[in-house]
Amino acid sequence: MGRDSLLFKHQSGLYLTVTREHAAEPGCHMNRRVGTAGLRHSGKLAREAARLLAAPYQAGALVELILCEQGCEVVGSFLACELSGGNALSLNRGCDIRVAAFRWEEERPVLLEPEPLSGQSVLLLADRLFPPDKALCCAQWAAAQEAALSGVCALFGTPGKVGWRRVHCLFSAVEVPGFHFWPEEECPLCRAEKANP
Ligand SMILES: [Zn+2]
Repeated sequence: MGRDSLLFKHQSGLYLTVTREHAAEPGCHMNRRVGTAGLRHSGKLAREAARLLAAPYQAGALVELILCEQGCEVVGSFLACELSGGNALSLNRGCDIRVAAFRWEEERPVLLEPEPLSGQSVLLLADRLFPPDKALCCAQWAAAQEAALSGVCALFGTPGKVGWRRVHCLFSAVEVPGFHFWPEEECPLCRAEKANP
């Protein structure tokens, strides 16, 4: 498959890098490689991303700890600032929200450094939430750690729900023209490559 890079711009100035490419995450194949580094590595854009991600959690969600996927620490730090500096209705106003990082191992989050989670109200921030059931993995993992999951959000993913909580995505997969994903075993691109090696 030929590569055809393009930039997808968001009205806020945030952008993803989208490359026409057969891409794979564990258990999930896609026909585009989506990059978030541009907004993760810019202080200005990371701050704007955090402002937009914080909005759904400003009023009703208690957040004591933000667990952000490795590489999203800048966005996660701004997210903590946004939530602790929220409006008068915010449960987190003036609170010192901690930020810790995790990475995915066999589709489960693993903390980079030990962090007490039991009894904590936790907001998870993922980079790319694919396959979409990773959100459910987050909820199950939080429950196993006896943490209270305040929410799951992502820079890029498919909006949905885990239990009664909505999964908030800064960029939704439906916004990316031509983007499709499949379970690994149903990927038509793999089949085409096998038929025409
Ligand atoms: Zn494939």
